[in-house]
Amino acid sequence: MLVRTNYSLRAHNTFGLSVLAQSLIRVETVQTLLAIFQDETYTNTKKIILGGGSNVLFTRNFLGLVIHMAIPGISIKRETSDHVLVEVGAGENWHQLVLWAIERNLGGIENLSLIPGTVGAAPMQNIGAYGVELQHVFHSLQAFEILSRKLVTFFKEDCAFGYRYSQFKGPLKDQFIITKVCLKLNKRPQINTDYGSIQEVLVKKGISAPTIKDVSQAVIDIRRSKLPDPLEIGNAGSFFKNPVIENEHFQSLQAAYNSIKGFPVDDQHTKVPAAWLIDQLGWKGYRDGQVGVHDQQPLVLVNHGDASGQQLLDLSEKVKASVQQTFGIDLEREVNVY
Ligand code: FAD
Ligand code: NAP
Repeated sequence: MLVRTNYSLRAHNTFGLSVLAQSLIRVETVQTLLAIFQDETYTNTKKIILGGGSNVLFTRNFLGLVIHMAIPGISIKRETSDHVLVEVGAGENWHQLVLWAIERNLGGIENLSLIPGTVGAAPMQNIGAYGVELQHVFHSLQAFEILSRKLVTFFKEDCAFGYRYSQFKGPLKDQFIITKVCLKLNKRPQINTDYGSIQEVLVKKGISAPTIKDVSQAVIDIRRSKLPDPLEIGNAGSFFKNPVIENEHFQSLQAAYNSIKGFPVDDQHTKVPAAWLIDQLGWKGYRDGQVGVHDQQPLVLVNHGDASGQQLLDLSEKVKASVQQTFGIDLEREVNVY
């Protein structure tokens, strides 16, 4: 087991923050995971799991052990005439898995193209984009239980998936390490182009009967045109979740702001795009030294070069306070702060 000490996490977080991990171990097998938790050196050491670092904000050096998840492998476990069950190691790159599925004409995750990070982190917040969430294709996962040091299987109904949510962010937080994920993909793909501008992009390209590859490429094109590439400008995607508010609250906002958008969640609740709220308050393109709000997508906070995590957190608190003051809405962070 190779232990790196005082290891820079700069290349391991998409904000590009220069923080150090006291120690880091790259984990490629469940045996290594077990060895870490059996090693008395680490019994009282604070630990975190890190995948691609695309949903984390480090506000200081991490004085503990970073377990860098790198368990590999993509294999077909079972197959029927309609579906395949694909088992994927937690350390595989999510977008590479999407491309793997598209190559084999296996449908279900094409709308989730170009989401950074690892497969193991995908169930953590039930990743979602363009009208599709991980839960729509999720079959089960295997996780290492820290307390018992045993592997446990969770099926879909055990995960309590919700909007950018799972049990692993809630009551089971910090108790399990996801080691592999099993997805049920469709051999007869059903195309989903209803959301946002996918249809518009396809029409512009003259595609009337899109394949999953076409849908994936449309999503990639839209994302590249709107979102900053973390390799060029540090960011962790949406900093806040889209708030879900009571219908009455939404109606009162609608009376005051006729351009506000809302999407019904259930009979009593409406989802409001956080980007719209932040934009209304003039934050889009805001910059203060090395930190800022992206000039095309105000839900994305950016590191212009040499920012600290604390500066980004301070900016996020200012944005949050102004949204609360004007709209009476409490924005919830999507990014995990350490
Ligand atoms: P990390 O950032 O490494 O970890 C995130 C959290 O999960 C941490 O708390 C970590 O401890 C925990 N964790 C990671 N792996 C494991 C594991 N194996 N077991 C237990 N805990 C673990 N998200 C969306 O949902 N939809 C999007 O469209 C989207 N677009 C994005 C676009 C950009 C440009 C960026 C930078 C981010 C975007 N995100 C999006 C957020 C992010 O990509 C996802 O949340 C992704 O799943 C995070 O994966 P990761 O491996 O980088 O996780
Ligand atoms: P967009 O398409 O401009 O839409 C703006 C907001 O309106 C989104 O937040 C979206 O909610 C909501 N919305 C739009 N059409 C909808 C519909 N038909 N039904 C329900 N809600 C609808 O958003 P964008 O910023 O360009 O992002 C596109 C997609 O990628 C979104 O799904 C977004 O969540 C995802 N994305 C996520 C991250 C992240 O880090 N989490 C980063 C970038 C993009 P939803 O967000 O709930 O879909």
